Amino acid sequence: MEYISIGSGNAVNSCGQANACQLLKLKNETIAIDMGPTSLMRLKQENIEPADISKIFITHLHGDHAGGLLYFLLDKYTANPESIVTIIGPVGTKESLELTTTAMYNGLEQELLNPKVVKFVEVEMDQTIEIDNIHLETFRADHFTGKYQALMLKLTVENKSIFFSGDTEWRDEIITYTNNTDLTVLDVMLINAVLPKHIVIDDLKRSLNDINAKNIFINHSNMGIIKDNAPFMLNNSKIKITHDGMRATI
Ligand SMILES: [Zn+2]
Repeated sequence: MEYISIGSGNAVNSCGQANACQLLKLKNETIAIDMGPTSLMRLKQENIEPADISKIFITHLHGDHAGGLLYFLLDKYTANPESIVTIIGPVGTKESLELTTTAMYNGLEQELLNPKVVKFVEVEMDQTIEIDNIHLETFRADHFTGKYQALMLKLTVENKSIFFSGDTEWRDEIITYTNNTDLTVLDVMLINAVLPKHIVIDDLKRSLNDINAKNIFINHSNMGIIKDNAPFMLNNSKIKITHDGMRATI
């Protein structure tokens, strides 16, 4: 399968990196993990037809990870109203999107959230579920999301396992969850003091050697900040730092 970074950056687009959105191109479908506000523009810049995305997995309902769903649905409604998309996210995903739609496109709720073509699968933490041919495991993420639980996601599909931390404070269980994965994507916040409840550089320094994954991508950061704050990562052959437009075969 092919991994494509649509948006590799954080909430405030540090160094011009787009908000969270990653794609996995499978044999028969393309799926997304997170859909931040800049995602629709970035998909079009990468010449990826949004309607070709059949499933969108959401790690948590912060705006920089889910705030692009509305524009994705607006594009779908105007360009490909018959295409079907399934949105898989924490309990409250549908409610959150309904509230956003009412606030920002009042009067278009029926069209944008037409249940015939927009499906929701809401999941709790520590759940295992099959969604078509995708085996999904969820784990508790420790993040500041109020009543909407943030999740870490592990997808197994086409004999590959891919782990997405989403935003979370470091948990030692991550070492277990990521064991033997083909790809582990860790969202890392490098501005330690500003926002708590993220994986930070010191967590990586301490735990990187214990993570047994074939590929480790550091996401939600950017090369500029890493150069200044964590040069040890640039010399570590185990990891790659994601950037917008990055592609990799998994
Ligand atoms: Zn967040």
